[in-house]
Amino acid sequence: MVGTDGALPLPWLGGWLESALRTQRGHAVLIHGPQGIGQWQLSLTLAQAWLCDAAVGARRPCGTCASCRLVQARSHPDLLVLLPEALQGPLGWTVGDEAEAPESGSRTRQPSKEIKVEAVRAAVAFAQTTPARDAGKVVVLHPAERMNGISANALLKTLEEPAGTARFILSSSAPQSLLPTIRSRCQALGLPLPDPTEATAWLAGQGVASPEIVLAAAGGQPLDALDWVREGLDATLWARLPAIVAQGDAAPLTGWPIVRVVDALQKLCHDLLRVSVGATPRFFPAGSVTARAGTAPISQWSRELLRAARQAEHPLNAGLMIEALVSRARLALKSGQGR
Ligand SMILES: [Zn+2]
Repeated sequence: MVGTDGALPLPWLGGWLESALRTQRGHAVLIHGPQGIGQWQLSLTLAQAWLCDAAVGARRPCGTCASCRLVQARSHPDLLVLLPEALQGPLGWTVGDEAEAPESGSRTRQPSKEIKVEAVRAAVAFAQTTPARDAGKVVVLHPAERMNGISANALLKTLEEPAGTARFILSSSAPQSLLPTIRSRCQALGLPLPDPTEATAWLAGQGVASPEIVLAAAGGQPLDALDWVREGLDATLWARLPAIVAQGDAAPLTGWPIVRVVDALQKLCHDLLRVSVGATPRFFPAGSVTARAGTAPISQWSRELLRAARQAEHPLNAGLMIEALVSRARLALKSGQGR
């Protein structure tokens, strides 16, 4: 969302926003692309632009009109945001579904990762009522793949037969997992990875050291890179990681969330394959990854990592799993050097 200074929340959103505003037709947009590049920020900024009071032809969102200020205060009467409970804290946007009491006896339950059907039904009802201001109503739904089948079907009817002036912004990093009928009712807006120069400069502005290394580690996804830095990634460790793993040393990784460890090893495996066929590494600095063998042992390791990735969400013992993963990685790296 654009603040009163008129600055975009992320510097690379400008082109995307301009393209979304210029090409908009219909009443529903599906923003899709890689995770960690700013889909949420774009969704909210686009909603703010649609609701902005600035004259046609002026820069939208202006950041200073009454509508923009209501969006900034998260209290615009014509804007409804649907987020899974688990994302509301991290994104700083409370949806206010406290009315949904936790099931009895589950006081310690985890926040839900789903967009629930009750919330979607409330959004459908919201879309059908008369807007309080002039620009119609906007519903933001992020991320759309967090709707289960029931929720998606509840939304579908409204997308098929839009009521009044309501417009919908759905965002997704897994559009293939949405109902095809949902996808076909939305105008698709595909987002590429941000320009690395802009993304690197932004990361540096967030206080990240060696941002180009961290950005590559996160596959060019700058918001993911920043999250990872906050979880313990630093550029020096990343550049040394292939050597550390080759020695079977799991200690530097034990503080990381296990999904990050599996992700890092998958990236190492990917780069080993690239190097073994003469390409440059994608995630690790050039020269930090060396492979001297055929691709068969690395491919075998890659398949094992895929299985590990499926278990990583619910490890029985994270410490043991990390040690086992590193020990297996050491074997794969050694098999590469022995031939
Ligand atoms: Zn405005």
